[in-house]
Amino acid sequence: MRFQAPRGTHDVLPGVSFQWRFVEKKFREVCRRFGYGEIRTPTFEDTGLLLRGIGESSEIVVDKQMYTFDDPGGDSLTLRPEGTAPTVRAFLEHSLYAQGPITKVCYVGPIFRYERPQSGRLREHHQCGIELFGATDPAADAEVIQLGVTYLRSLGITGEEIHLNSVGCPLCRPAYLQRLRDFITPSLDRMCGNCKRRYEVNPLRILDCKVEECRKASAEAPPILEALCEECGDHFRGCRDTLDLYGIEYVLDSRLVRGLDYYTKTAFEFLHAGLGAQSAVLSGGRYDGLVEECGGSGTPGVGFGSGVERLLLAMEAENRTTPQPESLTAFVITLGEAARKVGLTVLNELRAGGVAADIDYAGRSMKAQMKEANRTGAKYAVILGEDEVNQGVVTLKNLRTSEQESVQRQEVCATILTSQSGDRGVNNEPGDS
Ligand SMILES: [Zn+2]
Ligand SMILES: [Zn+2]
Repeated sequence: MRFQAPRGTHDVLPGVSFQWRFVEKKFREVCRRFGYGEIRTPTFEDTGLLLRGIGESSEIVVDKQMYTFDDPGGDSLTLRPEGTAPTVRAFLEHSLYAQGPITKVCYVGPIFRYERPQSGRLREHHQCGIELFGATDPAADAEVIQLGVTYLRSLGITGEEIHLNSVGCPLCRPAYLQRLRDFITPSLDRMCGNCKRRYEVNPLRILDCKVEECRKASAEAPPILEALCEECGDHFRGCRDTLDLYGIEYVLDSRLVRGLDYYTKTAFEFLHAGLGAQSAVLSGGRYDGLVEECGGSGTPGVGFGSGVERLLLAMEAENRTTPQPESLTAFVITLGEAARKVGLTVLNELRAGGVAADIDYAGRSMKAQMKEANRTGAKYAVILGEDEVNQGVVTLKNLRTSEQESVQRQEVCATILTSQSGDRGVNNEPGDS
């Protein structure tokens, strides 16, 4: 019986995990530069929180994408299907708002959604996200977008296209939704089942339906930007002015809406051609109603989420590969029982001294040990035979140049460390500086 990883999940193996570390590390660096502290919330939350926070009419809930289960104690729990509601819950539970008017947090973690297998989407994916609480200032929206751009640049990604829209507020949206319904009504019969349902619960989402017939029907729909109230209009202008100030280019996109109910005003997506048509590498917006919806007092918020898997695809599409770090610096090779004993001592000293080192555990011949040393990518082979043991030395072979020298046993660690600091960065993670 052989088992496989559940459908829609994947393993990150040692040969690629360094790329993941790179992507996450750059994210934390950029967040620190912008003043965001990292928050880690549980992998599962109270189902009630997510139903409130995401909205019962959102696709996540309607399409039954949530991994919801009763635990043995009878509590209904759900694996986190997005990052914002859990962050809002923590923000309220720990009164983070009491520390000052503005709270900025970032997070990295897995997200779970029961996607249809044919969609090619993952059921567990990993997300980097930020949330900025407490600011109505449109410069905050611009900062969130600017942080996103800065982050992509830090990964070497330059091919994104930023789409920007405003989805209005509870003051101006209802009237717009009515106009939109009126416009759609004559074509409703020809539209897909999803849109027929959206027509009732969330007609805004009809605008981003990918079905050809639906796109045709909504092609000439009145744009929401022309229906914004004064406050939303001013806010949107403020955000655009700040983006101009930062030299960030964007495309106005009246079809850009968000899947979740709690978004207000600014909405944005960073599309990337490397992910296929209309696929976002990063997306977010403002959610001024969410904190109140989750039981807090009215606190505005704005943020984004970005899938690690998608960032890696975008990097690949732009040929941005990170150099693989050397996994080992030294491999200890021994011949005979006496040498083996000394070899284990040397191995112990190397590791204690901070040198990444390994030894054979498969009882292989000296030749096979040498082969293994080369396979691991180690820079040095530390060779111990009978002669070396008798003379209290080791043969230190540089596997890059094939040069070898005899080194006093006590000096092995220091010799390797000195030569390492000579070729700077060799054993560093990519991006270390
Ligand atoms: Zn408005
Ligand atoms: Zn449709």
